[in-house]
Amino acid sequence: MGTQQLNLTPAEATTLGGYRLQVAVVIDETADARSLVLHVPAELHERFRYKPGQFLSFRVPVAGKLLTRCYSMASSPDCDALPKVTVKRVEGGRVSNWMNQRVQAGDWLEVLPPAGHFCLNESHLTAGDHDLVLFGGGSGITPVFSILKSALRTSQRRIKLIYANRDEASVIFKDELRQLAKANPEQLEVVHVLDSLHGYLTAAEVRQLVRGHAGAEFFICGPGPFMDTVEGALLALGEAPARIHVERFVSPPDPDELLAQEAEARAATADSTCEVLTVELDGQQHEIACQPGDTVLQSCKAAGLDVPSSCEEGFCGACMCKVQEGDTQLARNDVLSAQELAEGWTLACQSRPTSARVRLQFPD
Ligand SMILES: Cc1cc2nc3c(=O)[nH]c(=O)nc-3n(C[C@H](O)[C@H](O)[C@H](O)COP(=O)(O)OP(=O)(O)OC[C@H]3O[C@@H](n4cnc5c(N)ncnc54)[C@H](O)[C@@H]3O)c2cc1C
Repeated sequence: MGTQQLNLTPAEATTLGGYRLQVAVVIDETADARSLVLHVPAELHERFRYKPGQFLSFRVPVAGKLLTRCYSMASSPDCDALPKVTVKRVEGGRVSNWMNQRVQAGDWLEVLPPAGHFCLNESHLTAGDHDLVLFGGGSGITPVFSILKSALRTSQRRIKLIYANRDEASVIFKDELRQLAKANPEQLEVVHVLDSLHGYLTAAEVRQLVRGHAGAEFFICGPGPFMDTVEGALLALGEAPARIHVERFVSPPDPDELLAQEAEARAATADSTCEVLTVELDGQQHEIACQPGDTVLQSCKAAGLDVPSSCEEGFCGACMCKVQEGDTQLARNDVLSAQELAEGWTLACQSRPTSARVRLQFPD
């Protein structure tokens, strides 16, 4: 396919809230996974600064629709000059196959800025010397690999990676991992689990593998059943939920379905009247109007408040804010955990006030 068909005009890209980035390099990693290294022009460096473990969202015109898909960066901001995503084909999957078959170096893609909170924060440097135990399954290696490289480069933390794959041929980043383990024998241990040899990972094996790493910080990303086995085993061992981070690789609904969901959520709150919506942003309080059925984000935008946001579809987490007073109704949520919801976190793009007074705070 020629580059012309991939190009969106700058006006289209702006309307959709994305940026046009050019593919610098395409790397075939395995028979069904390839990496795209993206060129970020100097004027977008700040906008595309990312934390290890974060993802980019791509808006791709495929099958007559504009589909949004997230791909985690396999690159590390501490080690790699350019961001790199790695896309593994999903059987029958529209965007993953399109990315693997059609994209070439030199093509332009529409990309939303980095988002997500399955990541090493700056505080990891001061998080003491807790071990890092990383579980990656299949394409779930991508954010975990970014975290691994950054932690190796910026800390002395002991790191153990448990990496599950169908068979040896499907192991992404095999050579890089071998080299890293060889260069850092005291700090990094890599354990491969191959379905073809060992079968699926069991809870008993998880317990065995994490022995000696009690109190570590755990990152888990992979197929649903793999993550459930690992998370369940860690919780049963008494590991603190706050130190167990999980990233679920799901596709958001198609645009027509999203529109129907949005109309339903709006109708469900059309009778709620919020008299005062108070928004705390950058340490300042703003009292703004809220039309019935409008989301917090829509109200903020109408009032001229520049609150953080990105996908506006409930999956990136860029507009996370905390409800301090009153009630809100959250529509779509692919990002907040049960614990975060219990702590009062919500998503401004999917949250509608349902009480007369609501006060929300955006994190600094
Ligand atoms: C935060 C995050 C990070 C991610 N990071 C990565 C990553 O680093 N690497 C990676 O490879 N993936 C990643 N993913 C997953 C990725 O975003 C996609 O979900 C994945 O590539 C599948 O998308 P697809 O369009 O190919 O499949 P889809 O078209 O969404 O299809 C998914 C499944 O539904 C079926 N299907 C096909 N057509 C339809 C239809 N019309 N309606 C409903 N179902 C249909 C397909 O057969 C398939 O089984 C990430 C996801 C998230 C949320």
